[in-house]
Amino acid sequence: MITFKNLHKAFGDNEVLKGINCAIPTGSVTVILGPSGSGKTTLLRSVNFLEKADRGEIILDDIHINVEKASKADIHKIRQRTAMVFQMYNLFKNKTALENIMEGLTVVKKMSKPEAKEKALYFLNKVGLADKADAYPHQLSGGQQQRIGIARALALNPDVILFDEPTSALDPELVGEVLEVMKKVAQEVNCTLLVVTHEINFAREVADTIIFMDKGVIVEQGPPQTILNNPQEERTKQFLSRYI
Ligand code: ATP
Repeated sequence: MITFKNLHKAFGDNEVLKGINCAIPTGSVTVILGPSGSGKTTLLRSVNFLEKADRGEIILDDIHINVEKASKADIHKIRQRTAMVFQMYNLFKNKTALENIMEGLTVVKKMSKPEAKEKALYFLNKVGLADKADAYPHQLSGGQQQRIGIARALALNPDVILFDEPTSALDPELVGEVLEVMKKVAQEVNCTLLVVTHEINFAREVADTIIFMDKGVIVEQGPPQTILNNPQEERTKQFLSRYI
């Protein structure tokens, strides 16, 4: 379970998270929707302290962090249990697909190279790119690079995968293949997925819960059929009217 308690974050005068409270069950898929600038990415990045919230609590199972007092050891612990898939893939340009996946395994997880290689090949296969093991990022499409990004996250065997708008940098024709892989991950892998995206159909098909955020607060949350078909709040209705 990931729990946020009264989480606040400001950049200067810009209050981006204004007291976020919610609990995300282990193994569930939660999609965070909301207009640009509503704080979705900031909330996601605050989980693994890529963004340090100003106050509030973040609890991941037995790791209980009051963010104001977060120690390096706390941050290390939560990072060991989470993995992130970035909008811009963030692959090492001078490493092959296989080496990109192996990197976290040898450096962070301290695995031996042969063990890391075996694991990396397994996850390359999972994302349908076993034949691209020796390709460099520039030899791959954006969709393929993002699938490598997903394989890299999976290989770390995290409890939580944080997806930060994983398809928004892709040409439209490449979005589908990445969403398919994410759907497969949701079905086959038993970790908690927290996904910031504008892909409403993905949210409808795959999410257990949709959180709708606006202006730094959670406006409403619930199962897709409720949030998408029968939203209660005016702000949610307005937002969805642009997509549905
Ligand atoms: P989008 O859908 O456009 O990505 P979002 O809902 O994910 O938006 P955030 O990226 O969390 O929103 O940004 C929320 C607000 O915080 C925005 O006003 C943004 O300009 C501001 N912000 C985000 N990161 C920083 C930063 N590092 N420094 C200053 N301001 C920031």
